[in-house]
Amino acid sequence: MTASDLENRYGAHNYKPLEVVIARGDGVWLWDTEGRRYLDCMSAYSAVSLGHGHPRILKALTEQAQKVAVISRAFRSDVLGQFLETLCQRSGFDMALPMNSGAEAVETAIKAARRWGYDIKGIAADKAEIIVADNNFHGRTTTIVGFSSDADYRRGFGPFTPGFRSVPFGNAKALEQAITPETAAVLIEPIQGEAGIILPPPGYLRAVRAACDKHNVLLILDEIQSGLCRTGRWFAFEHEGIRPDGMTLGKALGGGVLPVSAFVARREVMEVFTPGSHGSTFGGNSLAAAVGLEALRVMADEQLADQSAHLGQRMLDRLNRIRSPLIREVRGRGLWVGVELDGNLTSGRRMVEEMMRLGVLSKETHETVVRLAPPLVITESELDWGLDQFEDALHRLERSAA
Ligand SMILES: *Cc1c(COP(=O)(O)O)cnc(C)c1O
Repeated sequence: MTASDLENRYGAHNYKPLEVVIARGDGVWLWDTEGRRYLDCMSAYSAVSLGHGHPRILKALTEQAQKVAVISRAFRSDVLGQFLETLCQRSGFDMALPMNSGAEAVETAIKAARRWGYDIKGIAADKAEIIVADNNFHGRTTTIVGFSSDADYRRGFGPFTPGFRSVPFGNAKALEQAITPETAAVLIEPIQGEAGIILPPPGYLRAVRAACDKHNVLLILDEIQSGLCRTGRWFAFEHEGIRPDGMTLGKALGGGVLPVSAFVARREVMEVFTPGSHGSTFGGNSLAAAVGLEALRVMADEQLADQSAHLGQRMLDRLNRIRSPLIREVRGRGLWVGVELDGNLTSGRRMVEEMMRLGVLSKETHETVVRLAPPLVITESELDWGLDQFEDALHRLERSAA
């Protein structure tokens, strides 16, 4: 059987991958089993912001693996503290709680918000509410999909966890109106990634921050995809000059090689956790800590926030100059752009298949949006080459649509 046949025969069908079998990666490039080379414009949903096989990440990974990898939190580690210190210094928060997947960091944030609601705010037992936004994406646990507005994420997985209220994204008035004395927190993405790279109107986060301050509600931002230099700043909230009370991080935190996530927060929020109240067998393991620490150092040393801002603007300018009947909208920030195609004339899937033939890998989201999110270590000429292919693919589709 071929590699695809094996996946189809023995793997659950919870994904519909492009028919390309990847065998190797280096920097911004991937190679298939036939030796064809592709520019990676997915970066594994930002997990590979440092590119494939970054030499400093591989060095940290192998050196730590040879010393000790997993000891559990039953013992102290000689690297975890350094990782947490750097994470807090970088993000400007007081304390961090390390987990593995992004969804676990979000679950941690939900627990923190609820317990803060009871212990600090004084909400009656089991009444705490968390306000979320329509079209959110925060992961795939049963609690998290319970407050998703995507039918595919939810169907057949109920009953769901109560205590969430969803409001339109980008509308601070609607959000403030949903706040009650039982609201513990607002949990939103500063830019909605999986929804199609949706930017809220300017001033939205500032208005949400003000509403949270006024009503004594925590503002928790999910920066699992938007954070760690992707939008041209270390964190997307910096574009609005605000500061949340807590934030979830993941994806790029693992340097492109491991699942490493964290919830970071103000001391008052994090101190609701007491020994035994929360944990994870692998969370904060020595290998993850060493890799996470090195990932943060690489982002700083290679000035990836500036790189993303500069090249992201170049990408947006170039895409905005394209005159094509297939393009409805180009939006994004930093090296994180969604191109919305006209669903009557073509589809995201057809576009990414055409791009694949020309050596650029990406993935559609929501039928009509094509994501362009290369590793942040991409060079100007590599980016220009990728955009040449994008334009070429678009014109090919125009001819077949005509
Ligand atoms: C990917 C993502 C998650 C979930 O992360 P996993 O590692 O897949 O569990 C949560 N929130 C946002 C904003 C994401 O993009």
